[in-house]
Amino acid sequence: MLVRRGIAVSPGVVTGPALVLGIEDFRIPKRFVSVDAVETEVTRFQAAINEVCNEISDNERLASDQLGAQYAAIFSAHLQMARDPKLLEEIESLIREKCFSPEFASSRVLRRYAKIFQNLGNRYLAERAADIFDLEKRILRHLLGERREELTNLTEPVIVLAHNLTPSETASLQKDFVLGFATEVGGHTSHTAILAGALEIPAVVGVSQFLADVSGGETIIIDGNSGEVIIDPDEATLAHYRDTEQRFRNVAKRLQLLRPLRSETRDGTRIQLMGNIEFPEEVEHCTQRGADGVGLYRTEFLYLGQQAEPTEEDHFNAYRKVVGAFDERPVVIRTLDLGADKIPTSMSYLQTDVSNPALGLRSIRLSLRNLLLFKTQLRAILRAAAHGEIRIMFPLVASLMELRQAKMILADVMEDLQEQDVPFNRDVAVGMMVEVPAAAILADEFAREVDFFSIGTNDLIQYTLAVDRADPLVANLYRAGDPSILRLIQKVVDAGRKNNIPVTVCGQMSSDPKFIPLLVGMGLRQMSVTPHAIPELKEIIRSITIEQSEQIAEHAKTLDVARDVENFLRGELKKICPDLIV
Ligand code: PEP
Ligand code: MG
Repeated sequence: MLVRRGIAVSPGVVTGPALVLGIEDFRIPKRFVSVDAVETEVTRFQAAINEVCNEISDNERLASDQLGAQYAAIFSAHLQMARDPKLLEEIESLIREKCFSPEFASSRVLRRYAKIFQNLGNRYLAERAADIFDLEKRILRHLLGERREELTNLTEPVIVLAHNLTPSETASLQKDFVLGFATEVGGHTSHTAILAGALEIPAVVGVSQFLADVSGGETIIIDGNSGEVIIDPDEATLAHYRDTEQRFRNVAKRLQLLRPLRSETRDGTRIQLMGNIEFPEEVEHCTQRGADGVGLYRTEFLYLGQQAEPTEEDHFNAYRKVVGAFDERPVVIRTLDLGADKIPTSMSYLQTDVSNPALGLRSIRLSLRNLLLFKTQLRAILRAAAHGEIRIMFPLVASLMELRQAKMILADVMEDLQEQDVPFNRDVAVGMMVEVPAAAILADEFAREVDFFSIGTNDLIQYTLAVDRADPLVANLYRAGDPSILRLIQKVVDAGRKNNIPVTVCGQMSSDPKFIPLLVGMGLRQMSVTPHAIPELKEIIRSITIEQSEQIAEHAKTLDVARDVENFLRGELKKICPDLIV
């Protein structure tokens, strides 16, 4: 049995036979063509490009129907690339002038572009190189008349293992047959990871080299919660996971019945459960599970796959769509959290070759330095707020000065809208994420100047423990249960209570069942979580009393290492809801 660990990007546990997709090195039969064949070869290349464009348009339609326009944008970007006159001219002139075969010329040009992206020193752009390889594969497939093992023609359930899955391959996965997948490369922000989450197929990416250990047909377990990929599990592990899977299925059935019930403790204290979303289309994932609204809308994903920056109308339409699905329930729109590894192609003017991007010009800092960008978004949010219960949230605030600047710009935008007679909501609530230790330490001071706090544990853990949240090499050091994290959370909750403002946890910690009794016991009354987690979290909340959760929190706070805290919480959850334990 081999156990490999990667980055968990789409939750769930599945077991099944491996289907290995090769690295697919197309053998290019001829590198050169004779001079008299050049024009025929150019025509052959042009015909292949036409077919490629048709194929991408079909994928675009498919993604748009299945997932919505935002996802289809990935294919619009591919299409734009495939039709790019400069690119086509470059390939055609290699055929004409150097007598390269169309296969060789295409591969040469596209790989050069991919390499440029990979060497830009920015993780987001490096992942875009996958889009170029995707295009290269398509062109070669049409030129060579070969077909990759068609993922769309599966007849029995499999676990797909690949070096990389392109976005188009991921979007066309059949949920009925692809139980889950794991890839050697990829990170949190890759299109593939985002699509896996949207399709709700358990997935682990960034596993590093493991394909040499499998040849196909072996039993594989994908644990999309912990990021583990188990090859050839032994009987005990297999039995454990089969049992877990079965229990998940039974629990899922039972949990469906909870949908109409309120999220409240056994002694009647209301705990709001809201959803985290990246795209407007995901509101359905929230409403289907009875979410109390959207607690975190990561608007930077509006920029995904777009060649041009979204306009005010693009922002406005997306926000209207989300708020329209929620009547009176709140929708917390977080202003752009761009920068670091989230640099869209439309903003390639941003400097990316910095040594510490997570500590660099990102998030609210970036918005404050690019006022046009910031004001465009704020205008759209304020206008959309006239149509529902929208709240504004600033990310990565680290100093009071930064918060005050952001609020001043918001006030300016309100004045502009007023002067221009544009309808908007002046009374929109303004809050901030607490995800930098400095903000947690000064929570009392911040609480006097905002309407709400939302604790972003993903970054708070990263910055407090100095552990890169996406680096598998230090994943064992990234612990939500660390006593320092508990202490910071408690500080923020106390500051909120003292100043009478609500506090939410919107980082992944609140989507993890074992932390729910602790967070409730620490005084949290709102969580914003991955939509699929809502039913099970509701069941935990409905199974505990405030007194019980306070006792759990008190004991957890006496423990001095993360491992002990987490083991204790796991044990307590087992007593409260035995079925939910993984
Ligand atoms: C967080 O940091 O906890 C958070 C919710 O924001 P993101 O994951 O988008 O950085
Ligand atoms: Mg964050």
